[in-house]
Amino acid sequence: MDFDILINKDNILDKDFVPNDLVTTDNNENNFHKYKDPNLKPQISNAILPYFTLMQKDAYLNGFSIIVDSGYRSFNYQQVIWDKNVLEKGLDYTQKYIMLPGSSEHQSGLAFDVAYYRNGIYTDDVKEDDPEYNWLINNSYKYGFILRYPKDKENITHINFEPWHFRFVGINAAKIIHDNNITLEEYHLLKEKKLER
Ligand SMILES: [Zn+2]
Repeated sequence: MDFDILINKDNILDKDFVPNDLVTTDNNENNFHKYKDPNLKPQISNAILPYFTLMQKDAYLNGFSIIVDSGYRSFNYQQVIWDKNVLEKGLDYTQKYIMLPGSSEHQSGLAFDVAYYRNGIYTDDVKEDDPEYNWLINNSYKYGFILRYPKDKENITHINFEPWHFRFVGINAAKIIHDNNITLEEYHLLKEKKLER
């Protein structure tokens, strides 16, 4: 799988796709998160772990504790969420707010939602005026990560602003996306145009 792979409702992953190198991101016995079920500890692709670990370390040196709150999610898990929402809230609501199975980046192992550990307290209530968010926005590209669903880009991503959802795309792609203030969708258009030339 290419790190800059586009995954959205028009570019879906196969229902059988499971990353073959998933690793648990939090092996610390004194982990920040009181997991109700240790099997539900967040996992990401081992290929991006060194990049995440380095980013996490540098964030820490700047006073911010950033952790993975939710990483890999299977196609079937997304289907369960989808079905539950259709049943409880209707198809209209579900289509608006829930990713169709296969179209969630979480299935790739390359994306995760962040949480913080702040003043001894764990929080997944990530907001755009958080200093941690501010640091991530200005620095995550150096480690190959992008904010996947930015504000004011909803017309392109068709996903509401998600200040917690980060995606590994590789350092080169992340720098282009950051420097040009574009989305992964726009990055792929640029890439296609270059290939046509
Ligand atoms: Zn997410």
